[in-house]
Amino acid sequence: ADLSALIDGLVRDVEDFPKAGVTFKDITPLLDDHAAFTQVVQALAAAGRDASGQVVVDKVVGMEARGFILAAPVALALGVGFVPVRKPGKLPWETRSVDYDLEYGQETLQMHTDALTEGDRVLVIDDVLATGGTAAATATLVQQGGGVLHGLAVLMELSFLPGRAAIGDLPLTVLHVV
Ligand code: IMP
Repeated sequence: ADLSALIDGLVRDVEDFPKAGVTFKDITPLLDDHAAFTQVVQALAAAGRDASGQVVVDKVVGMEARGFILAAPVALALGVGFVPVRKPGKLPWETRSVDYDLEYGQETLQMHTDALTEGDRVLVIDDVLATGGTAAATATLVQQGGGVLHGLAVLMELSFLPGRAAIGDLPLTVLHVV
């Protein structure tokens, strides 16, 4: 039936995690439900297809750590490669870095310099769009790596945060709005 309602029922709100005042959206009950997980992966993968169902992306990029869990099966569903974006010091090969601002301090994300081929059409996948900092930094990494951004697809958008504004005109697919 309604995928948004299904997701709503399988995402758990955890108060004061990872710190006081934050309500964390815990997706583990959804991941543990095979039927729901399958529907979510298929719905995210649809963002990489055109209206006739043709796959129109060459790579799926996912961000550490929960983005990996969704992006890898989406890449398999589309029949394209998966590229990880990670925190500093985790990727073993030559990397490109982008720094971005958090509420307090800075964060850095990295991607392998050889992960994309010039002109690759890229679908970016993550679990939650919050402030949009992670997504915007990933979009920059994709562009610097020679990729062409096709879109961003997320399981959930926290609509009380300015994530949508942070990603500019990058086409956004959201399965569930909080
Ligand atoms: P942003 O950069 O502020 O948009 O935060 C998005 C990143 O933080 C994503 O990679 C999410 O995995 C993570 N994140 C932020 N809030 C939550 C949450 O409530 N549940 C799970 N992940 C979250």
